Amino acid sequence: MPHRTETDSRRMLRQLRDEMASAQPGQERLDRITTIIAESMGTDVCSIYLLRDSETLELCATEGLRPSAVHETRLRIGEGLVGKVARLARPLQSANAPAEPGFRYMPETGEEVFTSFLGVPIQRLGERLGVLVVQSKEARNYTDDEVYGLEVVAMVIAEMTELGAFVGEGTSFASTHKQAATLRGVTGQEGEAEGHVWLHQPRVVITNLVNDDSQAETERLNEAIEKLRGSVDDMLAVAASRDKEHQEVLQTYKMFAHSRGWLKRMEEDIRLGLSAEAAVEKEQSAARARLETVPDQYMRDRLHDLDDLSNRLLRILTGQGVETGAEMPDRAILVARNIGPGDLLEYGRKLRGVVLEEGAVGSHATIVARALAIPLVLNVPRITTDALSGDHILVDGTEGVVHLRPDDSVTSAFRDKVAMQAKAQERYASLRDKPAVGRCGTEIKLKMNAGLMADLPSLPTSGAEAVGLFRTELQFLTRDRMPRRSELVATYARVLDAAAGKAVHFRTLDIGSDKVAPYMKRPNEPNPAMGWRALRVGLDKPGVLRMQVQALIRAAAGRPLSVMFPLVSTGEEFTRARDMLNRELDRERRLGHPLPAETKVGAMLETPSLAYAPDSFFEAVDFISIGGNDLKQFFFAADRENELVRRRYDTLNISFLSFLQLVVDRCHESGTALTFCGEDAGRPVDALAFAGIGIPALSMRPASIGPVKSLIRRSNLNEVSELIARVKARGLDSARPALLDYVASLVE
Ligand code: PEP
Ligand code: MG
Repeated sequence: MPHRTETDSRRMLRQLRDEMASAQPGQERLDRITTIIAESMGTDVCSIYLLRDSETLELCATEGLRPSAVHETRLRIGEGLVGKVARLARPLQSANAPAEPGFRYMPETGEEVFTSFLGVPIQRLGERLGVLVVQSKEARNYTDDEVYGLEVVAMVIAEMTELGAFVGEGTSFASTHKQAATLRGVTGQEGEAEGHVWLHQPRVVITNLVNDDSQAETERLNEAIEKLRGSVDDMLAVAASRDKEHQEVLQTYKMFAHSRGWLKRMEEDIRLGLSAEAAVEKEQSAARARLETVPDQYMRDRLHDLDDLSNRLLRILTGQGVETGAEMPDRAILVARNIGPGDLLEYGRKLRGVVLEEGAVGSHATIVARALAIPLVLNVPRITTDALSGDHILVDGTEGVVHLRPDDSVTSAFRDKVAMQAKAQERYASLRDKPAVGRCGTEIKLKMNAGLMADLPSLPTSGAEAVGLFRTELQFLTRDRMPRRSELVATYARVLDAAAGKAVHFRTLDIGSDKVAPYMKRPNEPNPAMGWRALRVGLDKPGVLRMQVQALIRAAAGRPLSVMFPLVSTGEEFTRARDMLNRELDRERRLGHPLPAETKVGAMLETPSLAYAPDSFFEAVDFISIGGNDLKQFFFAADRENELVRRRYDTLNISFLSFLQLVVDRCHESGTALTFCGEDAGRPVDALAFAGIGIPALSMRPASIGPVKSLIRRSNLNEVSELIARVKARGLDSARPALLDYVASLVE
């Protein structure tokens, strides 16, 4: 193979572009391309292998190997040298291929006479599409320039694949974006939805791949880079008042935007004939391929930063904004790598479901999706690469599974499941005005959790008798500045108006840990969940908490008010918080504002320590609400947001139930009202156990009230209580198996 010059490379790319523009069937186009590459590079063989499905590469065109092997020869990813290139997503070469470990001889191709091998991945933005191979009879090494040149060609082939240039009769392979895929993630919000993909950040479409004048193209790239640097500086100026982490991300952006290495690689791509946008995308693809192999989270985050920056640069170069003018489809399912709570709220109920490539169970977006009752699946690998806007998609939030472009059998099974659930919901609706009374005659109070005005209409329709937990964080998290007191007064008053006399238990700001408002300074903590959060912040820096309490008192405007403090860990913390509230009541009285008709002050029991607080605490507090989500994480020392451990311990583990029993007993002795308001309260079997050990009230998502009520009404809570006592006496670890048997024995 003679040394290739820049002119060779440019000529070859132009020829490829002409092939792209000519009207011809996909297979002929592929065949022509292999001939052009082999001739231009002076190799005996050029072959294109494309992915037939996610695991299989198929020889789709060749110059030099036996034509009869085309569409016959197949390899799995990782198999042979070709499969290895696909797996590693980087070039591989050998002067003596048959001697390489992993070499697989494919007799039908007649390749035994070719000694040297160079393969490069055909990939686009982290998506494997195939492998481009050249082979020669002579044993030789390929220069770095040759390898690089072939990568540039592979980039153009990747774009052509994406644009559907090779689809058609005879090619017998479909674009990967036409195949059905089932992708597994993590449940963010339960529920099912069917609809069409709406990409939050639509992909930039590149149509000009090859440049005619590399100097002009380099200038275009440099101008775009200048604009990019300017926009990063602007973002940094805006962020100067924001939290440190945000600023650090932008500093990394700045570093990348000024990286000589990045710019040099793109300029080299342009020199070899690519357009500026194709050059950006080629480097972006290489970075994404690296992302898949980097285990270190910090490095992965940085590669994501580079990815974001590349997108910005592409948008500058192509003029394609996020706002493409496309109409959002009916029944839109939002697909994004991640999304902030503000953006998600803006979409609001226009969305049927949300699928995120990243995201965390406790993130703000999850909180918003929960508040809006939109099914959400998180951590779905590759979804933003695999899904195209408009694709048919089924979201199973309960199972944490997404079916993309499902076939008919999957769709009909999914619809059956949804129909069955709708029937069950109808049954639950008929119970709406009936109490949750067990067959034993004991009544359990069922309340709902809320966090947005949008939740309030569920209060009458769900059959909840109160809002057991109103999370006030969302009004703070979804804006870029601290809300004013007057705004909070208006919001809380509207909540109370909408509740129409039913009690609303407002939980004061639970901020810190995972919930961080962009405008609030926060220390860099090694373990934020156990750090300076919730009431701890409120007591140490009382300004915001006082403002919130004032807003609550004014919003009540003479109506009853119920306030609870999050993450109370000792009796003394509660006393300090309540004293602060009393001082605010005094102040409001002095200012002549009407006071609430009655003020109830509660504590959330979210750390085991509070269960052992002195009797004086239990006597002083008006009510206790068990925040089971946090309590469980601290009880079992298992991070509620860490997928590796968060499902490891069961709520119905006897240790946890015994601990809850202690809380029930202490509240019973002091006559303190008790509610359980963590997510587990909405799981019917778990709720039954809580009721069985004597927790008199449960607060849950509105949609869970029907199923929980239905089960309680069919059960005898005395039997449940005895059953748990028997499990304990027998020395078993968990009450779940026995409870499941019990539930199965009940008549519908
Ligand atoms: C809890 O911890 O159970 C709770 C209700 O509060 P949050 O989920 O908002 O932390
Ligand atoms: Mg909590």
